[in-house]
Amino acid sequence: MERSTIVRVHEGLHARPATRFVKLAKGFESDVELVKDGKAVSAKSSVKLMLLAVKENQEVTVRANGADAIEAIEALIGYLENPKAGLDDEAEPQRPANDAGQAASASAPQSVPAAAGEANGLRGVAASEGVAIGPAFAHFPPEIAGQGRMLQAEEIAGEIDRFRAAVAAVQARMDRALAQDSLSAADRGIVAALRDIAADDSLTGEAEKAIRGGNDAVSAVITAASTIAADFSAVDDHYLNARADDVHAVGRQICLVLLGQDDVSLESIPEGAILIADDIGAWDLARAPLKRIGGVICGHGGATSHIAIIARSRGIPAVLGLGDQVNALRIARDVALDGNTGHVIIDPDEATRADYAGRVEAAAKERAGLTVFKMVTPKSADGKVIEVAANIGSLEEIEAAQEAGAMGVGLFRTELLFMRHMHLPSEDMQAETYAALAKAFAPYPVIVRTLDIGGDKPIAGIEFPDEENPFLGWRGIRMCLDRPDIFKRQLRALLRAAVHGNIKVMLPMVSDISEVTRTRALVDECAAELKAEGVPHATFDLGVMIETPAAVLIAPALAKEVAFFSIGTNDLTQYIMAADRLNPTVAKLNDVTNPAVMSAIELTAKAGVAAGIMVGMCGEAAGRPDLIPAFIEMGLTELSMSPASIQRAKKTITAMTAGD
Ligand code: PEP
Ligand code: MG
Repeated sequence: MERSTIVRVHEGLHARPATRFVKLAKGFESDVELVKDGKAVSAKSSVKLMLLAVKENQEVTVRANGADAIEAIEALIGYLENPKAGLDDEAEPQRPANDAGQAASASAPQSVPAAAGEANGLRGVAASEGVAIGPAFAHFPPEIAGQGRMLQAEEIAGEIDRFRAAVAAVQARMDRALAQDSLSAADRGIVAALRDIAADDSLTGEAEKAIRGGNDAVSAVITAASTIAADFSAVDDHYLNARADDVHAVGRQICLVLLGQDDVSLESIPEGAILIADDIGAWDLARAPLKRIGGVICGHGGATSHIAIIARSRGIPAVLGLGDQVNALRIARDVALDGNTGHVIIDPDEATRADYAGRVEAAAKERAGLTVFKMVTPKSADGKVIEVAANIGSLEEIEAAQEAGAMGVGLFRTELLFMRHMHLPSEDMQAETYAALAKAFAPYPVIVRTLDIGGDKPIAGIEFPDEENPFLGWRGIRMCLDRPDIFKRQLRALLRAAVHGNIKVMLPMVSDISEVTRTRALVDECAAELKAEGVPHATFDLGVMIETPAAVLIAPALAKEVAFFSIGTNDLTQYIMAADRLNPTVAKLNDVTNPAVMSAIELTAKAGVAAGIMVGMCGEAAGRPDLIPAFIEMGLTELSMSPASIQRAKKTITAMTAGD
C-alpha cells in the first residue's frame, strides 16, 4: 500500500524532522519505506532518511506493508504535509562552521590570510584577541585501527554482544552528558545529534553485518562509519556533509569502548596551556575545561567557527585556520600566540618570551585596573549619558558583555544565527534568541541588525549568484528586500521579542531611502499579521547603519525617516576609501583616521544631531581610546564595541569629563 505527496516540511527532512519522522514510523508495526526518485529507504532509520536528502516541495511516496499500514501512511503523510514540522528546531545542533581560513566576521579581530611568518613563526586567522604564551598541549587523538584478524565462526556471536554492549555504553555516556544542567543549548544540540546517530540502525546494522562477515568489531565499526560518512559527504547539501564528521565521532567513541581506551582527554590540560589541535570536535568542545586553557591554536576553523565564538566569549586568545602548518606545532614545547594578528611562534627565544610575557602581564594589569569602570555610567562634558554597549553575535557572548559592564547591545550581528545552522533559522527560534537577549540586558537597549549577508559568506537555504564584486553586490538590506520570505520571518521574530525588553532594529548597507520605507511597510505588514493571529508583539525603533557613502550623503533625509543612526566604520572606511577591508595589500588605505572617513563621520553626526535622533557607532573604531573624544565631540551618544574594549572606553570618556 502506498501514497504520494509533496513534502511541505520546512527545509525538508533534515536532522530533526528526519528523527521525528522515524520516531513516528517506529510507532507502527508495519514495514514502512519512503521513496524518492525511485529510491526506497526504510522510514525507521534516520541516517537512511537523511541520506535520501528529501527537500521541501519534492514529491515522495510513503509505502507500508503490515497490519497497521493504513494508519502508518495516514500519520506519515500528515507529517510530511505539515510545514510546521520543520520549524521547531529548538534542539537543532548548531554545527561549527569549519571553513579553514574563513574570512573574519567583523565581530572578530580582522582575519589575516595564512602566510609565511618570520623564523619559527606561523600565521593563521586571528580569531580571538589577546596574546598568550605557555606550554603547548598538543591534542591530536591517534587514529584507531582494527585488529585486522578474521574471526572464527564460533567467535562471531560473542563479538556481536561485545559490539552491542559498546554501543549501549556510548549511548549511556551521551545520555549522561545530555542530563547535565551545565550543558549549553548549543552543546546540547550537538550531543543530541550524535546520540541520534549512535542509536540509528544504519551504523549498528552495517557494523553487525561486517562482524557476521568475520571482521573484528573495531574494524567493522571503522568500515561502517567510513561507508556512511562517505554517503553523507557525497550528498549535495552543506548540512548533510557536516554529518559525516558526526558519524566518524560516534564510530570513534564505540571503538574506544571496544578497545577499553579513553580518548586523549582535554581534562588533563595544565593551567594556562595552549591547546593545539587540528580541529576540536563538537564532542570534545562540549566537555573541554575552557577555564584552564590559556590559548587555542587550530588547523581548522575560522573567525566564525564555534571554537572562535566560544574563545572570544571566554576571553581566550585564539589563532585558527593554520591548515597543515599546525603539524609543525605537534612537538612544540612552548608556544606564543597573538590573537590580534594571527601570529604563532613555536618555542620562542628568550627575547620573544620576554616580550610576550610582558604583554600578557601588561594586559592582565590593565584588565585589573579597568574593572573599577565596569559599573560607571560615563557622561559627556554637557552631561549626556554615553552608552557604552557591546557588539555580539551569539547568546554565548552575553555573559562576557555583562561582565565587562555593557550598557546594552549596540550591534547584535544576526548572521551567525543563520550561518551556524545548516538551514534557515525558524521564526520561533529567532524570536526566542532575540527575546533572551532583550531580557538579559533590559532595561538597556539591544540593537539587532537585520541579516547582513552576501555572496562571500554561504548560508544554507539562500542561493547567492556568483558576483564579480560581492562587497558591492546582493547583500544586506538589498538581499532581504528581495527575499521577503526570509526577511519577514526575521521581522516577525523581532516584533515578538520586543515584548520582552528594549529591542531596536537596524538595517545594514542602506544606500537609498526607499530601503527604509519598504522595510517599514513590511514591518507594518508583519505586525498586522501577528495581530490577526493573536500573537503578542510590540513595536520597535527602526534605525539604519551608516556604512555606505550614499547613506552619508543622504543622512539629513534619512534622519527624518529613522529613530537612530549607527555608524559602521568598518564598511564605511572600505567604501569611502575604495579599499577592500580584507585585502592586506591595501590595509594602509583602509584607515578610519583618514580625513575622508573622519569627515564622513562628522557629516553623519551633524545630520543626526540636527534631526534630534540618536547617533551611535558600532564599527571597530568605536572602541579606540584615541578617537573616542573626537566622536563624542561630534555628538555621538552611543559607542558599541567588543566586550573586551568596554571598560577602557568608559575610562577614556570619564577622563574627558574629568578634564584630563
Ligand atoms: C561595520 O561595517 O562597521 C559594522 C559594524 O558591520 P560589519 O563589520 O558587521 O560589516
Ligand atoms: Mg558593515
